[in-house]
Amino acid sequence: ADNIGKKFNEYYTSEKNLLGLVDPSFNNILPNIQHIDLLTANPGNNIVTFVFGTTEAITFSVELTNLISKKTLNNVVGVLPGKTKPNEFVIFSGHYDHLGVGSPEEGAKHTSTDSIYNGANDDAAGTTAVIMLAKYFKKQNNNERTIIFTTFVAEEIGGYGAKYFSQQLAPEKVIAMFNIEMIGTESKWGKNSAYITGYDKSNMGQILQTNLTGTNFTFYSDPYPEQQLFYRSDNATLAKLGVPAHTISTSKMDNEPTYHTVDDEFETLDIDNMTQIIKSIAVSSSSIISGKDTPTRVNTTELK
Ligand SMILES: [Zn+2]
Repeated sequence: ADNIGKKFNEYYTSEKNLLGLVDPSFNNILPNIQHIDLLTANPGNNIVTFVFGTTEAITFSVELTNLISKKTLNNVVGVLPGKTKPNEFVIFSGHYDHLGVGSPEEGAKHTSTDSIYNGANDDAAGTTAVIMLAKYFKKQNNNERTIIFTTFVAEEIGGYGAKYFSQQLAPEKVIAMFNIEMIGTESKWGKNSAYITGYDKSNMGQILQTNLTGTNFTFYSDPYPEQQLFYRSDNATLAKLGVPAHTISTSKMDNEPTYHTVDDEFETLDIDNMTQIIKSIAVSSSSIISGKDTPTRVNTTELK
């Protein structure tokens, strides 16, 4: 029960009709989830209802009316074919969706002057990184392995874009995945640093750090293991198929005031630091792009 986010997601994405009673001690997560009912990925099949503040089920009568409108959403993908190893893929990714627009009807958190969830850090920052890396590697024009640049849709409602993407290619062909999430603020160690989720799940982090020897940039292992970030972002789907797929982030998960608020605005980003992070990702990936290094696979039997 101490990992409410993960449980909530499991139930929310379930295909059964469920009635969940949530202990009052979790009432503080209400503002984070109130928008979710309007953002269902597979509407119309089942109903998942959460009741907050009740610990005992006596009798419940739940009446629901759903207004369903379907939208087709797309991942955005660009490919630079590899010169000598075209069937070995290296992926750079981010997600371009966020939480949308808050309104009193939805109950989503907003202020009277601002209802737009810009998502500048989460994850326009990662999307920017993917675009810059695509420009850079296109200019370099020397990638031995194929590079796939992608920005996913529907991350925030359960990683649906990444799930679809992972079904379009053979996971054994994917050598490494750099998923980039929230790199617009300073990490807990300050400038010129970022962390890698699931650092110990493959040796990819060590390869990246070795390639940064002599620079002033450091990749650390994820300092928020209790948050299960390795399983929460778009790297998770491919990681579960054995791909060394990690997320690179600077987000201070215990102290990031704009996280999932309408204040996640461009002005809050440290663009100079972000530029250094993107450059460092490029440098750190060089031996993987060239085919010199191949990260170890993720041992899927050890995953949750
Ligand atoms: Zn995100």
